[in-house]
Amino acid sequence: MKAWTEITLWKRVMLGLVLGLTVGLALRYGMGSEMVNGDRVWASAAFGEAWFQPVGQAFVDLIKMLVVPLIIVTLISGVTSMGDPSKLGSLGIRTIALYLVTTAFAVTIGLVMGTLLQPGAGIDFSGAAGSAVNEVGGRVEAGADAASASFLDKLFAVIPDNIFIAMTDGATGDVLQIIFFSLLFGAACLVAGERSQPLVQVIDSAAEVMLKLTVMIMELAPIGVFFLMAWVMSTRGLGVLDNLAMLAVALYLSCFIHMFFVHGLGIVKGVLGLPLNRFFSGIRDAQAVAFSTSSSAGTLPVTIKNATENLGVKKSVASSVLPVGATINMDGTAIYLGLVALFAAQAIPGIELTFADYLAVAVGATAASIGAAAIPSAGLLLAYAVLSVIGVSEEQALLIIAFIFPFDRLLDMMRTVTNVTGDAAVASAVAKWEGELDEDVFREKSTI
Ligand code: ASP
Repeated sequence: MKAWTEITLWKRVMLGLVLGLTVGLALRYGMGSEMVNGDRVWASAAFGEAWFQPVGQAFVDLIKMLVVPLIIVTLISGVTSMGDPSKLGSLGIRTIALYLVTTAFAVTIGLVMGTLLQPGAGIDFSGAAGSAVNEVGGRVEAGADAASASFLDKLFAVIPDNIFIAMTDGATGDVLQIIFFSLLFGAACLVAGERSQPLVQVIDSAAEVMLKLTVMIMELAPIGVFFLMAWVMSTRGLGVLDNLAMLAVALYLSCFIHMFFVHGLGIVKGVLGLPLNRFFSGIRDAQAVAFSTSSSAGTLPVTIKNATENLGVKKSVASSVLPVGATINMDGTAIYLGLVALFAAQAIPGIELTFADYLAVAVGATAASIGAAAIPSAGLLLAYAVLSVIGVSEEQALLIIAFIFPFDRLLDMMRTVTNVTGDAAVASAVAKWEGELDEDVFREKSTI
């Protein structure tokens, strides 16, 4: 047992993935198939549904259980850690504007890539497991209704008329409404100042506990991934791997494009007039840690170290802007959420996205990326939010998430690198505006 927990989590997750794949495929091809009324029926499908799906689903349920409380406490605690808004002044507004603008670019790149590469095309969700099939069929109409609502309807739907109903709506609540309320609640704590302190401390402590609980549940990920993978393989076979590979390609490409053009050329070179190569080589350690831990929060000490020592960002700015960035500025997560929405729309028959839907997904993915905690797999939890925006039912969302989850770690590594890179770029910009950037340090050894 000790030896098992000593292996880094991501390696254990990969092991679960490979074993699940092997067992699922061995059963599929070992148990064979027969033709029934012109359709090929695989004997392993019933087995997978009876034995693998319930365990995989239990794991997904454990994760779903975290969504509502995790978002509420981590988001309020993130906002209150920004400090008094009147002290933030125009700089604070510019920082937040930069977070939002970069995130909007990120979602756009994700949506364009998802449209070009079509990662969800060709998966036939009508062949999905058991009862889910009927649900999928039955919900298409509801999906079409939701899709035909106008953009403004969708936008204002983030305002909950009853926050308690929002929290209990469906399995994971109405996530966007919860994010909206939590952001305002955090802002109100800041405005209330001293008098909100006892409450803020309780919420900070609750946030710590929820993050710990998430980490504890993620320890089960290798087992969850094994069962999900074995289920998907025994019911669907190898064909689906093409789609998952395409999703990964779309995400990695989008992240590279975003980091190079938006963080690099846009902010560092364009806005700040500073050398690109020095920026990227300066944050190499932080990127490496982000890639291996999949946690912006876990990477934070290294990001601060890199920003102060290699980019010349003064400590005062680095230690205030970077922690906030780590919790709310997640460009990689926004790219990913946009892609997951398109993946679902392409994979589920009957969901046609209008231009208003694209806008709604962009707004939803931006909001959800703000709401995502800076820990492994947080982005996947938020996928429920963007899927509901385009009218995907809860059952369909479960299928999509169960389907992507086994591969999520690979995707998470890249989006976390992008998240951390965005934080460092914004911190450099803020430092420069504040006159707290030592450009000599930044330019040191630079050639471009
Ligand atoms: N793991 C990411 C981070 O910590 C969040 C996500 O899952 O998208 O930045």
